Order: sequence, then structure tokens, then C-alpha cells
Amino acid sequence: MTIKAAIEKVEKNYSHQPEFIQAVKEVAMTIEQVYADHPKYEALQVFERLCEPDRIISFRVTWENDQGEVQVNRGWRVQFSNAIGPYKGGIRFHPTVTEGTLKFLGFEQIFKNALTGLPMGGAKGGSDFDPKGKSDAEIRRFCYAFMRELYKNVGKDMDVPAGDIGVGGREVNYMFAMYKNLTREFEGVLTGKGVGHGGSLLRTEATGYGLVYFLDNMLKVNDETLEGKTVLISGAGNVAQHAAEKCLHLGGKVITFSDSKGTLLDKDGFTQEKINWVKEHKANGKALADYVEEFGGEWLDGQKPWQFDAQVALPCATQNEVDEEHAKSLVKHGVKYVAEGANMPLTAEAIDIVRDNGIAYAPGKAANAGGVAVSGLEMSQNSVRQYRSFEALDGQLQDIMKTIHDNALDAAKKYGKTQNAADYMTGANVAGFVQVADALVAYGYL
Ligand code: NDP
Repeated sequence: MTIKAAIEKVEKNYSHQPEFIQAVKEVAMTIEQVYADHPKYEALQVFERLCEPDRIISFRVTWENDQGEVQVNRGWRVQFSNAIGPYKGGIRFHPTVTEGTLKFLGFEQIFKNALTGLPMGGAKGGSDFDPKGKSDAEIRRFCYAFMRELYKNVGKDMDVPAGDIGVGGREVNYMFAMYKNLTREFEGVLTGKGVGHGGSLLRTEATGYGLVYFLDNMLKVNDETLEGKTVLISGAGNVAQHAAEKCLHLGGKVITFSDSKGTLLDKDGFTQEKINWVKEHKANGKALADYVEEFGGEWLDGQKPWQFDAQVALPCATQNEVDEEHAKSLVKHGVKYVAEGANMPLTAEAIDIVRDNGIAYAPGKAANAGGVAVSGLEMSQNSVRQYRSFEALDGQLQDIMKTIHDNALDAAKKYGKTQNAADYMTGANVAGFVQVADALVAYGYL
């Protein structure tokens, strides 16, 4: 089956999963040439096979709220591909989560994990549970109930989940506790565990720091640095906070954060003290808008951060948060670099606009791979039962992000399509895809 036919099949079978179709098409449109160069891929239906998860586990999660009322949610684990290592990918708790969302995220994860050079397959899981406004006891009961079902299908060499939106260290620890309780095994079944009981240093910072290391490599290609550059960041969660922190370390000036309610603008730039305040305030479930009372700046209710002059934009909130109009606004305001901290934050139309206007654009599967890379390092530390220092891990993360960047750039030079800026999108897709496709060819059709 040709790539075109495989897309048509996905569109026909999964018309109710638009994000999944979007993710499949984005990869498909960039790998046509490499597919043609390797006839075995088509002979063994490699792309068609990669568009169908190995399996999807779907289950009911029943738990009790603080009022003693029984609550019912849906949980899923999409095990997409274990071609190059155990299934690996985060768990998301958000009311918008559907099977289609997790399929898009799991599909992306296959190629992202391959790009890290570590032995990890692709997966994603989650629930439509809304953690907002829930007490600690409710979160704990939900996490226990979620793992009570999931534990049958995960394991250190089978499937190793981690955090994502709505799932941080606290939730991972609760899920790990239930796994340990049910199996009597202390093993690296989840990453993002607390440091001191199986977790790795740097895991919390890894996605945001890795994103900025990737950006730094993009800048170096043009003999530039982050020093003195203005940066727009969306989101105010784990990825956004640590991306802002690393920008600050490298001399950049971050002037925005945002959340689901609106955008925070601080033209003076976020200092470490201000970033620490955001970390603490969001961790307590409080409003980002409160910042203005504490430090000044401006709160823009219901607005996005893509409307200010800057050289760099780092979308770090959620999928499809940058549409066509936002992309035009980025071009108008002088942005030259866009690197995705979130997964698929730009719509297909927005990607076309930034690429057509000579902006260097790095897709999430390359730019935000630092999180899963350090998760991979957590897995290996768990296996050998030894922990590495923050500095050693940070050095390794920098090396991994440089390798991902350089591999994507090399593939872009061969297969890229854009003018005036490296085609990181094609480069990342080709480099990730080839590694997985070659494994599938080696296995025959299993
Ligand atoms: P968090 O839950 O820590 O933060 C998410 C942030 O995005 C919050 O500020 C939240 O606002 C905002 N947000 C979430 N949904 C929406 C929405 N529908 N509209 C507007 N804003 C929204 O998540 P992370 O920082 O961990 O994840 C952010 C992105 O990065 C996701 O796309 C995730 O898949 C991706 N990612 C995360 C990795 C990690 O290691 N954590 C690894 C690789 C990718 P509010 O607080 O108001 O809800």
C-alpha cells in the first residue's frame, strides 16, 4: 500500500479522530521520498502497520470523591509500537482526553523516542478525569484506581508510562505505590518518580531544558545565540516553567506565560524569583493572573501570547494552540525561531505559514524529546540500581539534544523542502521513521 492509500485508509476508518489524522498526515507528507528510496518499506506495509497501534487497552476507573460519591471515568493505554524498545510514553489526565487524542500522542511518541537514540517504543495513556479542583485525597484515590487496572498491562520491559498534562511527580508516586503494592516488585515501571525512591534527578526539568538546548543548536547553525533575544512562551506548567528557566540561564528574555484562562505579559522579563513564584503558584492550583498583584505586568484575559515583538516562540501548553492567525502574527512580530515544547501545538495551516515565511521551525517530536530521553536514563538507572548526578545527566541531555538536532539537520539536508531555514520537520520525521521502519523490515511482518 502506498503512503497516499494508507492515509486514505486512516481518514476513512478514523474520521472521528481528527488529531490522529493530523499527526499521521504530518509525518506522511515528509517521508514520501525516503519511502520511495526503500522499496522494502512498501513491500512490508511499514507505514500502514505504523498507523495501527499494536493494541489499545481501555478500562473503567471507579473511585470515590470526598463526599463519598462513586465516580466513573474512562482510562486508556495505547501501546503503539515496541519495534525498538519497550512501550514508552506519558499519561495525561484532562477532561478533553479521548482515545483519538491518545492515538495522536502515541503515534508521535514512536518517532520521538526513536530520535533520542535510546531503546524505547511508543505509547500514550490517560483518562478524561479532571484533576482541577480535586483534593489531594481525591487525586490519590483516582491514581490508585487507575493503576489498579493498568498494572496488568505495564512492566519495566513491557510498557513504562510517565507524566504528561495533569500528571506530575505526585500522581506518578501514587500510581507507583499501587503498582508496587499489587506486584510486590520495586522496578522501573514508571518514570518521573520522586528522587530518593527510584526517580532520576533532572527528570522534572528535562523537557523544558532540552527544548532550549535544541533551540540553542538551531541558533548556532546561524551563528547566533539566545543572548539578548526576546522569547514568547505559552503554558505555565512543567514544560513552560523549565523552558523559561533555561532561556534565562542562556541570556534570553522571556516575556510571556499563559494558561487556559489567558496570557501573562511581563515586558521586563521573568527573573528566577518570578519563575519560582509561577512554579509554586501553579503547583497550588492557583490563578496565573494573580502574578500582576505581586510583580506588575499585564494579564490578558482569554488571549494568546503570539502578539508581541520577539525573535523566538516556544509553544509549551497543548495541541493546536497556534492557528493560522497566530502564525501570521508571529511572522508579523519578527519571530525567526519556533520550537515546540508541547506536542503538536501548531495546526497544519500554522506550520505551513511559519515554514513558508522562512522561520526555523522545530517540531515537538524533536524539540521536546528531552523529557522522554531523561525518562530513558531513569529506566537505565533503575535497571543498574545506581543513580547519576544532576551534572552528569545534564551533560548527557545536552549531548542527546545535539544529536537529535544534528541527525534531523542531516536528514533535512537530504530530504528537506523549505527555503531560507533548515527543514527540521522533514528531517526529524525522516530520521525517526527510518530507524523504526528498518526494525520492522528486519522483523518481517510481526
Ligand atoms: P502541565 O499540566 O504541567 O501544564 C500544561 C499547561 O498548559 C498549563 O499551563 C495549562 O493551563 C495549559 N493548558 C493545558 N490545556 C490547555 C488548553 N486546552 N488550552 C490552553 N492551555 C492549556 O503539562 P506539561 O507542561 O507537562 O505539558 C505541556 C505540553 O508539553 C503538552 O503538550 C505535553 O504533551 C507536552 N510534553 C510534556 C512533557 C513532559 O515531560 N511533561 C514531555 C514532552 C511533551 P491550566 O493550568 O490553566 O490548565
